[in-house]
Amino acid sequence: MTFPQDITLEQALDLLAATTTPNTKSERLDLDHAFGRVLAEDITATINVPQSDVAAVDGFAFYHDDLPKAPLPVVGSIKAGHPFKGEVQRGMAYRIFTGAPMPKTAAGNGPDTIAMQEYCSLDDNGQVTPPSDIKPGTNYRPKGENIAKGDVALSAGTRLTAAEMGLLAAIGTAQVSVRSPLTVALISMGDEVADTGSTAGFDQGMIHDSNRPMLKQMLIQDGHHVIDMGIIPDDRQALTQAFHAAAQQADVILSSGGSSEGEEDHARDAIIGNQGVIDFWRLALKPGRPMLAGRIRHVPVYAVPGNPVAAFVCYRLLAAPLMALKQGQPRQPVLKIPAPAQFSQRHRQGRAEYLRARMTDQGLVLNGRPGAGVLTSLTGAHGLVEIPADHDHVKEGDILHFIPFQEAGL
Ligand code: AMP
Ligand code: MG
Repeated sequence: MTFPQDITLEQALDLLAATTTPNTKSERLDLDHAFGRVLAEDITATINVPQSDVAAVDGFAFYHDDLPKAPLPVVGSIKAGHPFKGEVQRGMAYRIFTGAPMPKTAAGNGPDTIAMQEYCSLDDNGQVTPPSDIKPGTNYRPKGENIAKGDVALSAGTRLTAAEMGLLAAIGTAQVSVRSPLTVALISMGDEVADTGSTAGFDQGMIHDSNRPMLKQMLIQDGHHVIDMGIIPDDRQALTQAFHAAAQQADVILSSGGSSEGEEDHARDAIIGNQGVIDFWRLALKPGRPMLAGRIRHVPVYAVPGNPVAAFVCYRLLAAPLMALKQGQPRQPVLKIPAPAQFSQRHRQGRAEYLRARMTDQGLVLNGRPGAGVLTSLTGAHGLVEIPADHDHVKEGDILHFIPFQEAGL
């Protein structure tokens, strides 16, 4: 079987995106339960937000061209949620509070300006003088300023975060149609890998499985449903069976370890043993070179390397965006922020490198020691810093791209 080898991250993304078909299963959920889900439909606003012109401050509403007639007699006291019921006339000022509807005539006209109470003077007769330099049209929010009736508030493919929840609630959407979560079979591989809690063999070179707990939480955070398939030993038959079972239940298979070229690396054989295809093997990426991707029937298999930092990087930069596509989200470039390096670093041309970094006032500093297995370089990092494949050694002051982790932001 021939397949592309040693390709770049961009080539790998293009290659796999071409065979990624969005999951079409959807469900209707109450807004409360839709957080983190991906919209399966466009949501159109059926009302204006705000529904009418409303006051943006506490003050006095008046017709701006009445300003030369000031002081103006004050009528009404219009509070939020209580529209003015009286007759609206020129030459008057209307006491109004933040969020209250602007007073309107039957024809829908009315005062066009609000003066903030702090800047008005009230005389002994209860008449108000707004500031003489106030501009017409100030201090109210026009009807539909947020969103107008008939406009698309959110498009299909949008992931619902807190801001989207706020907007949907504002337009009165109580239920939404969202994509069903992807079901991801998660597998660790290696004779030396044991679950946390076990102690047997730790003097014989056993290690705790750090990839499964780490990848599991990243999958959950990305809105997927995880089938935990545990640890499979370095045995071709056992892994072939595990991939077979995984492909029957899951939309995606995510495995870590066993994707290199050693005698004990069986991920490739296990895909082929299930009549699958290999999409590519090895990336021009550091850490993450032994990355392997294939498909068993329509189920993508992302076999990320066993080294924990490589597993993290390959998940974030390759598997996660492809799974977002499969969830029905549009393809989006990863956010890259140019920033100066506050470090120097040897770099061999040929592979793009992703180091763990913290962003400071002065620029980017490296976090922890290098190495594909050094998890302490990820803890406390704000994100990844990219050294492009063709970049020679990094010098202090070089402008590099920083890719922030979501957790490091607001
Ligand atoms: P592999 O990709 O199987 O060649 O493994 C590369 C390195 O990662 C080896 O040192 C493994 O012991 C280690 N490794 C593999 N799987 C895991 C895991 N689940 N958790 C922590 N380390 C792992
Ligand atoms: Mg191994």
